[in-house]
Amino acid sequence: MTNKLKYFIGNWKMFGNLQSFAIVNRVNKFAHNLSKKHFKSKIVLCVPSTLIYFFKKKMKSTYISLGAQNCHHYHGDGAFTGSINASMLKNSGSRYIILGHSENRSNGESTSLIKKKIESSLNQNLKVIFCVGETLKEKKLGKTLSIINKQILGSLEKKMSFKNIIIAYEPVWSIGTNKIPTNAEIKKVAIYIKSLCKKRFYSNYTLPVIYGGSVNSKNIKIFSLINDIDGFLIGGASQSSIKFIDIIKNYYK
Ligand code: PEP
Repeated sequence: MTNKLKYFIGNWKMFGNLQSFAIVNRVNKFAHNLSKKHFKSKIVLCVPSTLIYFFKKKMKSTYISLGAQNCHHYHGDGAFTGSINASMLKNSGSRYIILGHSENRSNGESTSLIKKKIESSLNQNLKVIFCVGETLKEKKLGKTLSIINKQILGSLEKKMSFKNIIIAYEPVWSIGTNKIPTNAEIKKVAIYIKSLCKKRFYSNYTLPVIYGGSVNSKNIKIFSLINDIDGFLIGGASQSSIKFIDIIKNYYK
């Protein structure tokens, strides 16, 4: 394990209510204590949009950041019933945003739509957690890298502010299934993503690549051996402060 900055990003998905501030509060306190131990970590909770402003106001001092989980692609006001744009999320206290999650891709979100959402979010200075990853069928056909190549080249572009982008490698077959790739597989993908982005977009900067998919307090010890990843996107386990905090504790143990 290195002392490089590590991200621990929670994706609450469609979970939580006002009482869930107790989780945020415990994670925030834990992050404060962790910061005293000089571990270089960034802890983010991506919560439902309805809760961002409330949580932000309730936290007295903030040692974590709050993030959103999606946005509409259009930057301004408009006739888009039920939608929320990146500017509204920024205004409510969001600093991060998850985009391109497979749960949204499977509902028809295309690479070009994701690109517009990324552009709109970067324009608001939100830090984008851009998810990529293959399905089980694609993995079995040996298409993992070519799928990731298409997802990245279809949604990112050289003129973007890469310092505000984190790529999350999330194999679709691993999300919420307790099935995980081997460390060698994750390492191969992380190295591939970093070199692809360097070659195609930004030769002097190495983009952070994090892993997501069934991360828990037990398998985190195995994942901690992969130096080529810069952290984790944690779904189900981030809905419990105990599970989420245990993941981070065990990572540094
Ligand atoms: C996710 O939804 O981004 C995710 C990683 O989920 P889980 O940790 O539950 O597999």
